[in-house]
Amino acid sequence: MHSIRNLTVLGTGVLGSQIAYQAAFHGFDVIAYDLTNDAVSDARARLTKLAAVYVADDVVGATAESTTTALNRIRFSTDLADAVSEADLVIEAVPEDIGIKRALYEKLSALAPAGAVFATNSSTLLPSDLKDFTGRPDRFLALHYANNVWRQNTAEVMGTTDTDPAVYEAVVDFARRSGLEPIELKKEKAGYVLNSLLVPLLNAAAELLLEGIAAPETIDKTWRIATGAPTGPFQIYDVIGLKTAYNVAVANPEPGSQAWAAYLKANYIDKGKLGTATGEGFYRY
Ligand code: NAD
Repeated sequence: MHSIRNLTVLGTGVLGSQIAYQAAFHGFDVIAYDLTNDAVSDARARLTKLAAVYVADDVVGATAESTTTALNRIRFSTDLADAVSEADLVIEAVPEDIGIKRALYEKLSALAPAGAVFATNSSTLLPSDLKDFTGRPDRFLALHYANNVWRQNTAEVMGTTDTDPAVYEAVVDFARRSGLEPIELKKEKAGYVLNSLLVPLLNAAAELLLEGIAAPETIDKTWRIATGAPTGPFQIYDVIGLKTAYNVAVANPEPGSQAWAAYLKANYIDKGKLGTATGEGFYRY
């Protein structure tokens, strides 16, 4: 298939705005779609902040001028038909709710050009859960960004058995051209590569703490010194945010998970210590 030029991002929340900005910064024309004018105006504010963050974080090529040019490559829309009429690639980053996503794909399949590729940024759903609603299972796959995409620039690319290999390659190429490191998965896997590695580490760290085996600082120090990793699991928890960690624990049916949720709530959430975002979590910042 021909290479991807026009991108539409559906949902301009935390990840959608980062996806839109990262592509625009690398020269793509982007349309950012959300439901309401209020959501769009929140997105505008988020994108303006992101432009400053690219400069502050010394992203290669980020200057006052280049980041403003990138902002100007993004057009906002609250009309789905208008937003996707010329899309080569539509990346969906709406809330992690299968009902919302399915309803959106049903509308999208009727409105988008037949050749457009759809990609979901879902963290926990498999593309197989959604493909039957897209009207084009051969042109559908997952493209999973990490939060803080300008620094943590992996893009996990995961198709279903229906995904056309040429479409998969075109999305890998798009990821590379938008400054990302494509992580190619050969099969579907819940959690992709990253969370398949990270979640067991975080769970094991929680268990060591809950069982009174060692303190967070000791557990982190062990991981850092013995593996050479720059951060330990509790430092990672602070970056992810303890509210997110709490929500994940509450939803997890595994034994021990509710005890971890209760621990996080009593010691951190209820005290407003939510991690780096609030200046304190397992550590002070
Ligand atoms: P978010 O709640 O910050 O943003 C969701 C946005 O979608 C909101 O702006 C909302 O107004 C909009 N929206 C709701 N329904 C819509 C619809 N029908 N059409 C268009 N827009 C709609 O969510 P988020 O954290 O950005 O997560 C979005 C997706 O990205 C999820 O699938 C999540 O799993 C995935 N993801 C999130 C992270 C993260 O760290 N937050 C990381 C990787 C992937």
